[in-house]
Amino acid sequence: MKHRKLVILGTGGTIAGKAAHASDNIGYTAAEVGIEQLIAAIPALHGSGSIISEQVSQIDSKDMSFEVWAQLANRVRHFLADDDVQGIVITHGTDTLEETAYFLQMTCQPAKPVVLTCAMRPATALAPDGPQNVMDAVVVASHPEACGVVVVCAGTVHSAMDVQKVHPYKLDAFGSGDAGPVGYVEEGKLRLLRNWPVPQADIALLAIEKIAIWPRVEIVMNYAGASSLMVRALVDQGVRGLVVAGTGNGTIHEDLQAGLLSSQAAGVRIVRSTRCVDGKVLSLSGCAIADSQGLSPVKARIALILDLAAEDARSSAVGQA
Ligand code: ASP
Repeated sequence: MKHRKLVILGTGGTIAGKAAHASDNIGYTAAEVGIEQLIAAIPALHGSGSIISEQVSQIDSKDMSFEVWAQLANRVRHFLADDDVQGIVITHGTDTLEETAYFLQMTCQPAKPVVLTCAMRPATALAPDGPQNVMDAVVVASHPEACGVVVVCAGTVHSAMDVQKVHPYKLDAFGSGDAGPVGYVEEGKLRLLRNWPVPQADIALLAIEKIAIWPRVEIVMNYAGASSLMVRALVDQGVRGLVVAGTGNGTIHEDLQAGLLSSQAAGVRIVRSTRCVDGKVLSLSGCAIADSQGLSPVKARIALILDLAAEDARSSAVGQA
């Protein structure tokens, strides 16, 4: 029989957090409890067939790095290639969960489910939310039709493309903007609301292990009184790309825009997105700055980094030929 195994990878976060008192839901240290211990604390999981667990990292996700991402993507690719593996669950902090989800979607393009889950309360809380989230994530990762990277939190399934953390402390801390969630997990059953997010099949998978230096891309924001000061400082530091979190439909203060346009003319890649939570930037005729194709500023940054890394890989392949 195929697809008998479920993989659970631990990366840290509040779900693995410890506080001094059970009543403390916010004064805790993230990333303290190991993945095996987390799984052991969920007896209901033990009847869910064969589970393989692995600790990939143990960090507060606010400190996420490209090194951890590369390591995680490599482990995900490794387990996805095992015909016996049905799906993967990843426990992760909530702060940069949407970025990791998007990174994994783009670098692994999984045809099987890769389900990130998390918690807003530490493992030591009187009523921790992590165990139920893991149970729900296992339901999604075991679903025969599930595919692609999704996030499960508070019984809601979000696609990697749309998910965003929208609340600093509520248990239901994520939203999918106006795209809406993919579905809900209700008492161990998945109720699908729309199609599974289609994995990107048209872009070549990057050889992540060969990337020694990740291209530096930063985010600047538009706001009242914004200027090109930050842009000049960042370009002086050698950034290769800038994403602007514009106002409204990606609009940019004239002073900031002048700085961005001259950087673009000097070879820095510039992408225009919006700081609005819902909707997406629409292309403006005559606008010299490319738009983010519906991606939020943090995801547009990852897309640009991956694009530049792919460009580097192509030119080094040409150089070696
Ligand atoms: N700072 C924590 C983290 O992202 C927050 C959480 O997991 O809820 O790891």
